Amino acid sequence: MNAIGIFGGTFDPIHFGHLRMAQELLQHLNLSEVRFIPAAMPALRNQPATSAQHRSAMVRLAIADNPQFSLDERELQRAGFSYTIDTLTALRQELGANVALCLLLGSDAFLKLPSWQRWDALLSHAHIIVAHRPGAEPLAENMSAPLKAFYERHVTNSKLDIAKKKAGHILLQRITPLDISATAIRTDLQQQRSPRYLLPDAVIDYLTTNQLYTN
Ligand code: ATP
Repeated sequence: MNAIGIFGGTFDPIHFGHLRMAQELLQHLNLSEVRFIPAAMPALRNQPATSAQHRSAMVRLAIADNPQFSLDERELQRAGFSYTIDTLTALRQELGANVALCLLLGSDAFLKLPSWQRWDALLSHAHIIVAHRPGAEPLAENMSAPLKAFYERHVTNSKLDIAKKKAGHILLQRITPLDISATAIRTDLQQQRSPRYLLPDAVIDYLTTNQLYTN
């Protein structure tokens, strides 16, 4: 099967929680690649601490040695808020109807889905793969009524469904729990603590050279 993982985020900065999640979902779902798509201007959160160019450069460094990971800068080239629905629509047009698209989300992000632009249209273009994130509120008790109805309509337990169809299912997937967050890394840096072993050395070198996150 030809299936591609789509991994959006602020990546402010990218860390091993992101990278390990992408690697495990790639293997589990037999994806041909995972595309990392940094959000230029996220609509639903404070604007990132760092420019989109720096965040994207750090993603490039972090994934450089993995031939199945790629960087897609389309959201940096678009004006206005970075809506995932626009990105998926464009990808579907480019890649055609025969490739399965899998939108990769942590469970914290999935719980916020109903606040996304045209969220109920996402499954027309892609499957949604939800990875359990440590520290996130448990899904079962925390889905809003509309999200729960959406989830129950589309959930599958079988990765065969993901292979058979090109879009339209939701799959929950356990991954190795790594309680790493960009927020905690930024706090470490502001307080002059080393974030070593939470993110790749090449990214640490980059943010040190460019004096990111220190004030
Ligand atoms: P911040 O702390 O700034 O909110 P973050 O670490 O949550 O950042 P994002 O770039 O916002 O990183 O996350 C992008 C995606 O990666 C989201 O879907 C999020 O749920 C997921 N994600 C981030 N960190 C982890 C982790 N440690 N385990 C599983 N999923 C994660």
